[in-house]
Amino acid sequence: MRLDVVSLAPEAFAPLLELGVIGRAFAAGIAALHTHNPRDYATDKYRKVDDEPYGGGAGMVLKPEPVFAAVEAIPVLPRRRVLLMSPQGSPLQQADLRRWAGGYEQLVLICGHYEGFDERIRALADEEVSIGDFVLTGGELPAAVIINGVVRLLPGTVGSEACLEEESHSALLLEHPHYTRPASFRELEVPTVLRSGDHGAIARWRAEQQQQRTAERRPDLYARWRQQQQIQQ
Ligand code: SAM
Repeated sequence: MRLDVVSLAPEAFAPLLELGVIGRAFAAGIAALHTHNPRDYATDKYRKVDDEPYGGGAGMVLKPEPVFAAVEAIPVLPRRRVLLMSPQGSPLQQADLRRWAGGYEQLVLICGHYEGFDERIRALADEEVSIGDFVLTGGELPAAVIINGVVRLLPGTVGSEACLEEESHSALLLEHPHYTRPASFRELEVPTVLRSGDHGAIARWRAEQQQQRTAERRPDLYARWRQQQQIQQ
């Protein structure tokens, strides 16, 4: 997959290329990352990318021309999606990551800065994405979150496909607890069923734990899961 990031701080993405499983996926050619700095497309002698807001108010606004020029200079692959980082966007879900990883060969991620971006920049995007109900100084961390989540799902990045199918948010329920050796640690015991060797009992225990955990921690997800179960019956 080709990933193009439009950012005033392209250096923020260098660590992604070195980071564990995701770094290895880039090294193996599973994904390729290209950064584009709108400042390189500014045409005035100060390479200005921000300006005061029309109508007054606090902060500066990212100008449309350099961002349009940066996006328009990016090669266009047939199946491409343009994502705009914005706290006003639709909240990021695991289902979005799956949709982008499975359905597209190119993602363009546009990072905002300053007080915000000129409203016309929205016209460049197919989708506006928020990583949560809080405000960061720029779109670099949100874009890095999306890149990590998408590259992780690309075939070959994570060794076992089963890991991706069974994990939290893949099917509304949160994942069951995990334990490894030792069986007893500071008087905290691994549940005996997990040491029983009875695969049926282990599967049932894990399914119960998933439901119990989701009901306790995420009643919203649990209600949706119950509804889905009723429809399927
Ligand atoms: N004034 C803007 C508002 O209230 O909507 C917030 C601008 S924020 C300081 C600057 C940039 O950071 C945004 O344009 C966006 O690209 C990025 N950003 C900040 N928080 C974000 C979030 N929760 N999700 C996605 N992008 C975010």
